[in-house]
Amino acid sequence: MIWNETMECMNREDMRKLQGIRLKKTVERVYHNCEPYRKRMQEKGISPADIQTIDDIVKLPFTSKKDLRDYYPFGLLSSPMSEIVRLHASSGTTGKPIVVGYTRNDLAIWDEVGARCFTAFGLGKQDVVQISYGYGLFTGGLGAHGAVQTIGGTVIPMSSGNTEKQIMLMHDFGAVGLACTPSYALFLADAMKDSGIPREEFKLKVGAFGAEPWTEEMRREIESKLGIKAYDIYGLTEIIGPGVGYECQFQNGTHLCEDHFFPEIVNPETGEPMLPGEFGELVFSTITKDGMPLLRFRTRDLTRLIYEKCECGRTSVRMDRILGRCDDMLIIRGVNVFPSQVESVICEMLELEPHYFINVDRINNLDTFEVLVEVKEEFYSDEVNKLLDLRKRIVHRLQSVIGLSPDVKLVEPRSIERSQGKAKRVNDKRKFN
Ligand code: ADP
Ligand code: ZN
Repeated sequence: MIWNETMECMNREDMRKLQGIRLKKTVERVYHNCEPYRKRMQEKGISPADIQTIDDIVKLPFTSKKDLRDYYPFGLLSSPMSEIVRLHASSGTTGKPIVVGYTRNDLAIWDEVGARCFTAFGLGKQDVVQISYGYGLFTGGLGAHGAVQTIGGTVIPMSSGNTEKQIMLMHDFGAVGLACTPSYALFLADAMKDSGIPREEFKLKVGAFGAEPWTEEMRREIESKLGIKAYDIYGLTEIIGPGVGYECQFQNGTHLCEDHFFPEIVNPETGEPMLPGEFGELVFSTITKDGMPLLRFRTRDLTRLIYEKCECGRTSVRMDRILGRCDDMLIIRGVNVFPSQVESVICEMLELEPHYFINVDRINNLDTFEVLVEVKEEFYSDEVNKLLDLRKRIVHRLQSVIGLSPDVKLVEPRSIERSQGKAKRVNDKRKFN
């Protein structure tokens, strides 16, 4: 099912025209209402008249997370405070939180794009959906909440935490959909098993997972543990929250709501545009928002864009899986390492649980690289020789995927700390030296 066929399946030429019109309006808005933007444009020697089509977007200055911090809390608003009806703040995974203000119109846009997501996941009016993203300043809970209400589904506004109750209500209320972070989905899978309630007694079929990077291998783990189909939902506070992008039933990329959020891929070092299909840093311009429109916002997320029409009939651009954030990339002994590479190796191996933790340090001027992995119950009790062999195979596989041999430590099942929101899987002690 498609929620908004006009927008999701528009031919590309018409879409670009529409994006041009919307961008022009947004540029005029920020130029006249937001001083930092006006100043920046003046410094670059451009005025709103220079922006006529979507191709002109490259003339505009970038916006970064730092700008949001520098103008904290309300310096980047383009609407008077009297028009702002809601505030959200980022979870601050990487530093001081940033604040975003929404007008009524912005909230309506958010509901609209969220409705596209949950419809694409196959959910509708008849379905009960448990929202186990945190409610509050974090956009996850309220974002998914508005989306499910918009499609007419029944919301269980559960929030995260309180695991036993999560499982009880999921069972008693017959939740068909579950929305949470992928790491919390794994946590709930274990809790479901512990509850002793047979899987057949749950109605759960579909998961809407996002807010943190997850690999294809992690998807398979979650799907088999929970017995559901797991979909990706993408978003970020600065742009709106969850609903910027979503997977369709073909799961060959995350469709972006590009009639609201115009995406570009640039070289993360130089800011130069990359060629279509090349990997780089994702950049968004909001082209319909009023409260706090952002132009060319550098997400720090690394991915690529796919412009071919999708089998589902949608023409909207798709983004590939997010490799990670530029800030997540570890440079260990000169080698670039993404936690997602470690994750895919660990999830491939039958004997391991999909839980891991990476420790990086520098001792005597040499980087140390340790990976803790959980062994499944049935293998943990194996004889020492077998465990040694398993360890060797993991090191070998990691060496061939990332080009480095970490010190692998096999640990007991359930000994690595679980996350109820965004998982923290890396401790890079070098940063504090
Ligand atoms: P914070 O930056 O504090 O984590 P947000 O909650 O706004 O604040 O997080 C947005 C970020 O979360 C995105 O830029 C991206 O890195 C990550 N993210 C969100 N959804 C996904 C997803 N489906 N896949 C991968 N990463 C995601
Ligand atoms: Zn599709």
